[in-house]
Amino acid sequence: MNHYHSIAIDGPSGAGKSTLARALAQEMGYLYVDTGAIYRTVGLAVHRRGVDPKDPKAVEQVLGQVDITMGHGPDGAQRMYLDGEDVSQAIRQHIISSYASQVAALPPVRAFLLQKQRHLAENHNVIMDGRDIGTVVLPQADVKIFLTADPKARAQRRYLELLERGQQADLEQVLTDVVERDRQDMERAISPLRQAEDAQVVDTTGKDLEESRALLRCVIQSVLSQKEES
Ligand code: C5P
Repeated sequence: MNHYHSIAIDGPSGAGKSTLARALAQEMGYLYVDTGAIYRTVGLAVHRRGVDPKDPKAVEQVLGQVDITMGHGPDGAQRMYLDGEDVSQAIRQHIISSYASQVAALPPVRAFLLQKQRHLAENHNVIMDGRDIGTVVLPQADVKIFLTADPKARAQRRYLELLERGQQADLEQVLTDVVERDRQDMERAISPLRQAEDAQVVDTTGKDLEESRALLRCVIQSVLSQKEES
C-alpha cells in the first residue's frame, strides 16, 4: 500500500505542463518530476555518441554505459546529470526534443524509465508530468490531469522559450516540429500519448501562466477533496 499521494499531468508538448507542475509542487510541498527531462537526457547521450535514435539495440547499449541521475535545486527545479555532468541546459536544445521523442518510442528506454519513475512515486508525494503517467506509469494516481492547448498556442510558447534561452528559432518551423512530435508521441505502439479515461481535461489556450495555474490548482483541489469525502 502506497502512503504517498501522486498527481499525474500528461499532455502534448508546450501545454505548460512543466512550468505549472513545478509551481504547484512547490506550493503543495510535493516532489516535482519532469519525466520528459529524463527522456531528453537519454536523447542527449545518444546524440553525443552519434548513435541512431531509432536503433533499439544501439540505444540499449548506450543505456548500459551511462549514468543518468536527477536532483532538485533550491527553487524546486529538477536538474539532470549525465555521467555526473549537469546537462539541465543541454537537454533543452531543439534537436534534443526530436531525439527524446525518437528514443522514447523504444521499449528498452521505456522499461528503463518506468522503474525510475515508480520508485520516486513510492517514496515521495509527487507531481509527475509526461505523456503516459496517468495511463501507464501511475495508473492509481490520486489525480490525473490531461493538460492541453491548441497547437498554435503551444508552438508560440516553445518559440518564446527557445528565444529566452538565446537559441535561434523560427515560429513556423517550431509549429511544424511540435505537430510532428505530437504525432510521433500519439502514434507510437508503446505507451502512446493519450488521455486517461479518468483524467480531467485542462485547456490552457488563451490563458496566461497565472490563469492556467489557478485553473489547475482548482481542479486538483476539487478532485482531492472529493476523494477525501468518499
Ligand atoms: O515533455 P518534453 O517535451 O520535455 O518530453 C520530451 C519527449 O519525451 C516527448 O516528446 C516524448 O516523446 C517523450 N516523453 C515520453 N513520455 C513521457 C515524457 C516524455 O514519451 N512520460
